[in-house]
Amino acid sequence: MLVDEPNPRPTVLFAAGEAFPFAKTGGLGDVVGALPKALAERGARPVVFLPAYREIRRCGLPIVDVGVEFTVPIGGKQVAGGLLRGKLPDSNIDVYFVRQDDYYDRPGIYGEKNVAYADNCERYVFLCRAVMESIRLLGLEIDVLHAHDWHAGLLPALHKIEYRDRPSYERITNVFTVHNLQYQGEFWHWDMLLTGLDWRYFNWRQMEAFGKLNLLKTGLAFADAISTVSHTYALEIQTPDFGYGLDGMLRYRSDVLGGIVNGIDDTIWNPTTDVLLPKNYSSATVAEGKAASKEAVQKQTGLVRDAAAPLAAFIGRLVEQKGVDLILEVLDEWIVDSDMQWAFLAGDGEPALLQKVERAAAAHPDRVAVVKGYSEPMAHLLTAGADILLMPSRFEPCGLNQLYALKYGTVPVVHAVGGLADTVVNTSAATLADGTATGFTFGDGGAHRLGESLALACELYRGRPEVWAALRRNGMEQDWSWSRSADEYLELYRQAFYLAHRQATVDA
Ligand code: ADP
Repeated sequence: MLVDEPNPRPTVLFAAGEAFPFAKTGGLGDVVGALPKALAERGARPVVFLPAYREIRRCGLPIVDVGVEFTVPIGGKQVAGGLLRGKLPDSNIDVYFVRQDDYYDRPGIYGEKNVAYADNCERYVFLCRAVMESIRLLGLEIDVLHAHDWHAGLLPALHKIEYRDRPSYERITNVFTVHNLQYQGEFWHWDMLLTGLDWRYFNWRQMEAFGKLNLLKTGLAFADAISTVSHTYALEIQTPDFGYGLDGMLRYRSDVLGGIVNGIDDTIWNPTTDVLLPKNYSSATVAEGKAASKEAVQKQTGLVRDAAAPLAAFIGRLVEQKGVDLILEVLDEWIVDSDMQWAFLAGDGEPALLQKVERAAAAHPDRVAVVKGYSEPMAHLLTAGADILLMPSRFEPCGLNQLYALKYGTVPVVHAVGGLADTVVNTSAATLADGTATGFTFGDGGAHRLGESLALACELYRGRPEVWAALRRNGMEQDWSWSRSADEYLELYRQAFYLAHRQATVDA
C-alpha cells in the first residue's frame, strides 16, 4: 500500500543496543527507555526491539516467550532466533527481545572487562536482520523505523536495499539517530560478508570508511532522515575536530541532519517523588532536601560530615571524552588549600583513569570519594546531594547528567560543547538579571578554564547565597521533560516521510 501523507499517529519501531531499565550503559539507554513513552502520550504507537541479553532479567520485570521463531542468513550460515516480550514500565509499550543465546546470553552487553566482544559485528547484524524479519512475522504495520547508533546501523541499509518494496514494508520511512559519533562499529572488511549485502555497497559513500566496514556510516548513508541529540552537536560533527573521520559524510548528508535535545524521564528523575532520596524536595524546600542527601552521601562514602563544604560530583563513564583528567588536575591543585569535597561515581571506563581517581581518594579519604561501578541509587543520591556537578567533557552529544542536575538544584559547571552548550546558561550579570542563569560554562583551555569556572562557582556558593539560590531555582524551574523533545521527534518523522518520498522520486 502506498501512502501520500505521513501518519499523524505513526507506529514507530525503535531498535537499539540498550534501553532502561532492561540494559543500560549510558544516555542511549535512557533515551530508548523514555522517548517511546512520551511519543505514546502523544498518540504515536511505539514498539521497542532489543537483544535478549542475560542482563534483561535483572530488573525483575515480566518477560514472556512470544513463540515466534525464525532463521536469518549471517554470512554463509542460517542462524536461528526467537522473540521474547516485555513492557516498558508504567506503559503498555511492547518491548521485543531478540533471543539468540550464543550471541546475547553473556555476562556483558557489549563486552567484558572493558574489552568489546570479538563477534560484535555478527551480534548486531543478527539483531538488525531479526528486527526486519520480525516486522513481517508479527504483522506489525510500521510507519517509522527508528534506528539508534551503530548497533542498529545496518537497519536503514536493509530497509533500502532489501525490504523497501516488499508488502509489509512499503509504508516505512527510516530515521537514524546518532547518540555518540565516537562509537562507530568499525570492523575489518571481510565482515561485509556477515551483512549479506553486495560488495558494491562497500564504498566510501556508503558502508566503508578508511578501509573498514563502518556500521554507523552505513546508518548515515541509508537513512531517510538523521538526527543527533543536540543542535550544537549536529553542527560540531560536521567539522574535522568532532567528526571522528565521518565529518565529510555528515556534511554530505547535512540536508537531512538535525538535532533534538534529549529529555529526562521525570517519573524517574524528579526530586519531589524520587524514592532513592532520604528526603524529597521541591524548589521551595531545596535547601533542606539537598542537605539531607548531602549528609547521606558524606556518610555513605566516608567524606567528612560538613554541611558547608562545597561538594562537587562527577557521574559517568571514566573515559577520555568525559574530561575526568581535567577534574583531577584541578583537584590536585586545590586539595591543600580548599575545603572542597569531590565525589566520583565511576561506571565503565579506562582502568588507568580509575586508578588515578582511586589514588586521589586513597590519599584524601575525607575529601575525595569514589564509588565504583554502576549504581542507580548512588547516581540519584549524588545528583541530589552535590552542590555542583562537573562535566568538563571534551565533547558531549547531549549529556543527561547536567539535565538531572538542573532538575535537582545542583549547579552544573560544564565545558561549552554539544548539548552542554545547548542546555546550561552561563552565569553573568546579564543572565542573572534576566533570570536565565543556571550554571557555569567554560570554553576551550582545559583544566585551567575548568578551575576558573569552578572558583567562580565556589565564590558565589560561599559568599552570595542569594545568587546561589537563584541559580538553583532557575535550573529547577526549567522543563527538560520528554514532552518538548517528543513533539520534535514527531515532526522529524513527518519530515522523514517527505524526504523518503523525495528520494524515491529521485531513485525512480
Ligand atoms: P553517556 O551516554 O556518554 O554515558 P550521558 O550523560 O548522556 O552520558 O548519560 C549517562 C547516563 O548514565 C546518565 O543517566 C547517568 O546517570 C548514568 N550513569 C553514568 N555512570 C553511572 C554510574 N556509574 N552509575 C549509575 N549511573 C550512571
